[in-house]
Amino acid sequence: MPTPFLAGNWKMNKTIDEALAFVEAVKGPLEAIDAVDYGICAPFTALAPLHDAVAGTRIKLGAQNMYWEESGAFTGEISPLMLKGLCENVVIGHSERRQYFGETDETVNRKIKAALEHGLQPIVCVGENLEQNEAEQTEEVVSTQVRGAFADLREDQVRDIVIAYEPIWAIGTGKAATPEQANDVIGNVVRATVADMFGTDVAEQMVIQYGGSIKPANVEELMSQPEINGGLVGGASLDPESFVTLVQVTYEVKIQNAGMGG
Ligand code: PEP
Repeated sequence: MPTPFLAGNWKMNKTIDEALAFVEAVKGPLEAIDAVDYGICAPFTALAPLHDAVAGTRIKLGAQNMYWEESGAFTGEISPLMLKGLCENVVIGHSERRQYFGETDETVNRKIKAALEHGLQPIVCVGENLEQNEAEQTEEVVSTQVRGAFADLREDQVRDIVIAYEPIWAIGTGKAATPEQANDVIGNVVRATVADMFGTDVAEQMVIQYGGSIKPANVEELMSQPEINGGLVGGASLDPESFVTLVQVTYEVKIQNAGMGG
């Protein structure tokens, strides 16, 4: 089983002081948790101070975006070279970036390649919108996104990637996919597409998260699904207590109840 990974996506929230206070609040309660990975994807401005604040903890740090060039005349952009050494992960192709900032499968693919080249682990977001879901186009939309994102990648590169299946209609709406729906798309579309492209071995080892209105009240049933290897959490990752609960429940469901704990 891939190591479960619960990541918070703070989006455009938290000043540096607020980010540091969050880490201070969660680091004690999370200390005893092993065997699952957890982390936060913070705004660029908070990454350097957070880098120091998470030292000595198991909290992984991620960015929420980056450009694919190393440097140059790209005003306002952040390069993989700038992130390297500051964080381990980078969210690529979040639906909000696709929707508001014109990201496409092609730009997602370029960013993934650049991230991997610089030793950053991408968390690649895919997912259908409501209209596509209602028109029963989920399989087509999501498999096309996975194929586009991973075009021209080698098998050894894909092993290091995390995918987040995030149905857009479930993001920030309070209406999560049912555990069965999420499990079905992750297993039969996302993992199946990776298997078709790179083989079952790679697909089975890949961490595939679910994202979309995960909260303390529904995390147990979502994480109980075998194809779901963790979560990408927006709103409910902003509050320290809620974040700790999400990580603890993921640990209980995936490790303790599954008899994998020490
Ligand atoms: C997200 O931003 O990736 C997300 C899943 O948001 P929320 O948990 O708030 O739905």
